[in-house]
Amino acid sequence: MLNSTDVFVIGGGPAGLAAAIAARQQGFHVVVADGAKPPIDKACGEALMPDAIAALEKLGVALSSADAFPVRGVRFLSSGLSAEAVFPSGCAGFSVRRTILHRILTERAAGLGVDLLWQSVVTGISGEEVRLGDRRIRTSWIIGADGSNSRVRRWAKLEPHSRTGLRYSFRRHYRVAPWTDRMEIYWGKHSQGYTTAVSSEEVCVAVASRHPELRLEKSLPDFPELNARLSGAEATSAERGALTANRKLKRVWRGNVVLVGDASGTVDAITGEGLGLSFRQAVVLANSLRSGNLAGYQGAHRNLALQPLLMARLMLTLDGRPKFQRRTLQVFRRHPEVFRRLLALHVGKLSPIHLAVDGLTLGWGLLTT
Ligand SMILES: Cc1cc2nc3c(=O)[nH]c(=O)nc-3n(C[C@H](O)[C@H](O)[C@H](O)COP(=O)(O)OP(=O)(O)OC[C@H]3O[C@@H](n4cnc5c(N)ncnc54)[C@H](O)[C@@H]3O)c2cc1C
Repeated sequence: MLNSTDVFVIGGGPAGLAAAIAARQQGFHVVVADGAKPPIDKACGEALMPDAIAALEKLGVALSSADAFPVRGVRFLSSGLSAEAVFPSGCAGFSVRRTILHRILTERAAGLGVDLLWQSVVTGISGEEVRLGDRRIRTSWIIGADGSNSRVRRWAKLEPHSRTGLRYSFRRHYRVAPWTDRMEIYWGKHSQGYTTAVSSEEVCVAVASRHPELRLEKSLPDFPELNARLSGAEATSAERGALTANRKLKRVWRGNVVLVGDASGTVDAITGEGLGLSFRQAVVLANSLRSGNLAGYQGAHRNLALQPLLMARLMLTLDGRPKFQRRTLQVFRRHPEVFRRLLALHVGKLSPIHLAVDGLTLGWGLLTT
C-alpha cells in the first residue's frame, strides 16, 4: 500500500492534474487525491484560448476536433450591435466539455504513472504528512489544487487574499448546431452571457451577474439574439452554478506547501483564462520543485496573473453600463485593429506596450462617438 511519495497533489481538477503531469515529467513520484469521482464536471465556459492550448502541449496533451470544437476568435454583442476579432494567424483555441478535458488529463497523468486516488478526501496536512481520514501518506511536497475555496490555503495559513468583483455564474448545455466558431460574449443590462460550441451539435452557455437570483433561464431575455437561437433547443445538461471573482493572494507557498489553479487566486470567468493560467502555473511550478526554489514560483505566478487580471478589469468596466458597451462596440467596429490587438494581447501574442496606443485610440473613439 502506498505510504510515501515525492509530491502529493490535493485536488484532481484540471489544475491538480496539470500540476501532477508537469511534476511527473520532471521525474517526481506523484500522487493525486480528489474527493470526487471522475470524470469531474464543473460550471465553466469551457473555452481554451490559444495560449492554454500551447500550455497543454507542454504537458504532452493535444486536443483534436474529435474531442473539442475549434474557437477562432471572439465576438462581442450588445443591443443589436456586434464586433468581432480573430486570433492572430496560426493561433486557434478549442472549446471542450469539462468532463472530456478531465478524462484526457486523467489519461495523460495515468499514462505517465501518476497514482490517482479518487473519492479520497484529504482531511488535513501536517509537516510532511497528508491525512485522508485514518490514512497517512508521507510526502516531500504538498500541492494544494483544491479550487477557489481551498482548505489547503487555510491549513497553510496562506490567507488572506484580496477579492474584487464577486459575481454569480451559471452554465448549461443546449442541443443546437453551432452558428459560429467565435466565443461570443453578450453584454446585457444586468448580466453577461457567454457561448462556445463544444461539438457539432452542442453549445455551452454561461451567464454571470452580480445578482444571485439571475439564473440562466431568467438571464436569457437580457440577450435577445441568443434567446432566439436557443428557442426550442433541448437542454442537455443540468444547470450548474459557481462564484467568479478576481482573487489575489499575497503568498502562494509556505514551507513545503504550494498552491496552484483557483486555490492560488482566480481571474473572472469573462477572461476565459482560468484553465490556461493553471496549466502555465503547473509547468512553472514543476520547474521550481525541481530546483527546490518555491520563491521563484511566487514571482512567476504573480507575472502570469498580471495580464488576465488586467483584461478582466478592462472587460468588467463594461459591466452594467449599456451606453458604454454600445460605444465600445462602435469603436471596435470603426477600428477593428484595436479589438484584434487587444485579443492578441489577451492570448499573449502582443506585448502590453501596444496597449498604450490602442488605449488612446479606444479612449478617443469613446469620447468622439
Ligand atoms: C462560470 C465560469 C466560467 C468559466 N469559464 C472558463 C473558460 O471558458 N475558460 C477557462 O479557462 N476558465 C474558465 N473558468 C475558470 C475555470 O473553470 C477554473 O479556473 C478552473 O476550474 C480551475 O480549476 P482547478 O483545478 O483549480 O479547480 P476545480 O476545478 O475547482 O478543482 C478542484 C478540485 O479539488 C477537489 N477537492 C477540493 N477539496 C478537496 C479535498 N479536501 N480533498 C480532495 N479533493 C478536494 C474538488 O473535488 C475538485 O475536483 C470559468 C469559471 C466559471 C465559474
